[in-house]
Amino acid sequence: MRKPIIAGNWKMNVLPGQAVELVRRLWADISGYDAVEVVVCPPCVDLPAVSEFMRSGDIRIGLGAQNMHWKESGAFTGEVSPTMLLDLGATHVIIGHSERRQLFGETDQGVNRKVKSALSFGLVPIMCVGETLKQREAGETEGIITGQVNCGLFELGPEEVPTVVVAYEPIWAIGTGKAATAGDAQEVTGMIRSVLSGQFGQQAAESVRIQYGGSVKPDNVSEIMSMPDIDGALVGGASLEADVFARIVKFS
Ligand code: PEP
Repeated sequence: MRKPIIAGNWKMNVLPGQAVELVRRLWADISGYDAVEVVVCPPCVDLPAVSEFMRSGDIRIGLGAQNMHWKESGAFTGEVSPTMLLDLGATHVIIGHSERRQLFGETDQGVNRKVKSALSFGLVPIMCVGETLKQREAGETEGIITGQVNCGLFELGPEEVPTVVVAYEPIWAIGTGKAATAGDAQEVTGMIRSVLSGQFGQQAAESVRIQYGGSVKPDNVSEIMSMPDIDGALVGGASLEADVFARIVKFS
């Protein structure tokens, strides 16, 4: 049985005090509700304040970073290492978000290094994959997603894969208000599970949680979550308001 996981990606949007306030309001709405694993991913500089607030208030929400370097330390100006994230209280890390791939040149090989590193340090990687509108219209979705999954998880063992969360985020649906239909999202997430099965065997594939991301809102989340191969959501804009995000978390 795969426990659904719903994560909020706050991108470069909230100062530490605002992040703490968002968590405080979110927890007020969702404490006692444990049907879903909830994770928030504030900007890196917010992690210490949020982590301390969660610890002191016994707030059981996962804390994710939005990116990391794969090395533990070294001459990598501007980067943050997995051990630094752990020290700041992070439990999860988003890897290969389309904004990082498109705006900062992240490659599948880099994503693979980061996924392997996150696992080796005990962080849960949320690995994002997704096609552009042009690729979808050219009928390339299956090839693109298969390549991203195969490369991103290259050389992982079948025992490691169930810890990974894969987020299917069609780029054309991110921040546009135009979510994929539940049927289209299922088609691709089902295909991702088949790819995982081919790569790691059916048992491992069945235990991987696959999220959908792209304009998830309170009014479309239930239909999306009702799909057999969708085990959660990665939510951008709608996670920035505590009451709206809480309605998404309590979708059922
Ligand atoms: C995202 O950036 O991961 C995302 C899904 O954004 P939004 O929910 O705003 O489309």
